[in-house]
Amino acid sequence: MRLRKALLGLAAALTFVGQAHAQQLLRDAEIEQWLDDYSRPIFRAAGLPADQIQILIIGDPTINAFAASLIMGVNTGTLTNADTPNEVVGVIAHETGHMAGGHSARSDDMVAAATRPMLLSLVLAAGAIAAGAPQAGIGILGLGQTIGTANYLKYSRGQEASADQAAVTYLDALHESSAGLISFFNKMKNSQIITGYKINPYMVSHPLALDRVQALERRAMASPYYDLKDSPEEIERLKLIQAKINGFLQDTNVTLRQYPLSDQSDPAHYARAVAYYRGSMIEKAEKEIDYLIEKHPENPYFYELKGQMLFEFGHVAESIEPHRRSVELAPTKALLRINLGRALIATEDAAQFPDAIKELRSALNIEPDNSFGWFELARAYGGLGNEAMADLATAESRYHSGSPGEAAVFAARARKGLTPNTPEYRQASDIIAAAQAISAGGRGARGPSRLPSPDPGQQTPEDDEDGGSDTDSQDNGGKTQTPAPQSPKDGDVPDPPTN
Ligand SMILES: [Zn+2]
Repeated sequence: MRLRKALLGLAAALTFVGQAHAQQLLRDAEIEQWLDDYSRPIFRAAGLPADQIQILIIGDPTINAFAASLIMGVNTGTLTNADTPNEVVGVIAHETGHMAGGHSARSDDMVAAATRPMLLSLVLAAGAIAAGAPQAGIGILGLGQTIGTANYLKYSRGQEASADQAAVTYLDALHESSAGLISFFNKMKNSQIITGYKINPYMVSHPLALDRVQALERRAMASPYYDLKDSPEEIERLKLIQAKINGFLQDTNVTLRQYPLSDQSDPAHYARAVAYYRGSMIEKAEKEIDYLIEKHPENPYFYELKGQMLFEFGHVAESIEPHRRSVELAPTKALLRINLGRALIATEDAAQFPDAIKELRSALNIEPDNSFGWFELARAYGGLGNEAMADLATAESRYHSGSPGEAAVFAARARKGLTPNTPEYRQASDIIAAAQAISAGGRGARGPSRLPSPDPGQQTPEDDEDGGSDTDSQDNGGKTQTPAPQSPKDGDVPDPPTN
């Protein structure tokens, strides 16, 4: 229910005109896959370590994107305002140009120095988001004004020109057109018409001078790939993503007007399924998603939404089959496995818990720093009476949500019930050692780049409150004694990474 409040808050925030509006961090396997498919080849073309780059989805209707060494953030408005995938590809290629050029890493730039820890705290927060949070089906974390700092990233004209040129180089190497970059720039110039915002944040951070656009046009139009167009299938896939974003982030009535019943396209069915779901119109929502599943039985995300609907409408047992089907169709998606694990646990049938543990462990192999996944795993072990493993999983959850002090407490308790010289015992010892290193002012020895902040040490494991913010979107359920994972707060800033 708290998430619902957050969503209502977002709807209200969207009516504000100006730069001060609420933003959210999103987790969604389908949108992430879409961004991966279009971004990773560009990262590779730029010679960047593509698999290490974290892509963050920011729920914000304005067109914006930002990059800082190995982090790239994309506003949902960038996706919903695009007419073709190629337009988004152009923006990603331009941001990649900044990333590869090290443009945001200038040590003399105090804003860049302040922005980096802020971005890392977002990476940390991403792992704390519930997969398919209650009442939403999409993982959402309210950010308040936190990420507004990213808007203060401001590149020089020289950096802009160099990012443009780099973008065309990458796209040429991939045999893709740079036309989308130009059409998107032109669109942003008129963005007050599109979004109602007076100043587009992208235009603030990426100053757009006439001579720059002209230089870009000259270079892009000389490319043999300039006239290449996205296929109808690719455009349809973008429209599905847009429908999902609109369904989840827009006011439901706005969505139903935008996708009227007369529109029988797949994206319209998708948007209506989400809108009815959020409006608790159960039968209508199920009818829309069933239509899509019957037409596209190979699409894992339609099953995911169906499972989410059934789960939230209280049909927990029936939600398991669609969730399981989504995992079968997309076995590498941690979020889908966490959905399934969570549904199995919510049956409160202990016979299902070993299966839940298997799914959650698979998910955590893919995303070891997903604190929500560890939180659910703790519930499963707790439900089976395995207190030591529950404590160990809670320790991981706390560690990865930026509370190493609490993590150490749970890890120490776990060790009492674990056998020395087992992997689990060593795992608990690792957590304690890393937490001690952090509290001694050093850095934890675990994980390559996502180390949490020094723990302020004021929270006890019993302290379940999150300070009244809307960041707590998990379904705690009250079924076990395990405390909810803490979402990172503004003051919790992770250490800079080693790279
Ligand atoms: Zn730029």
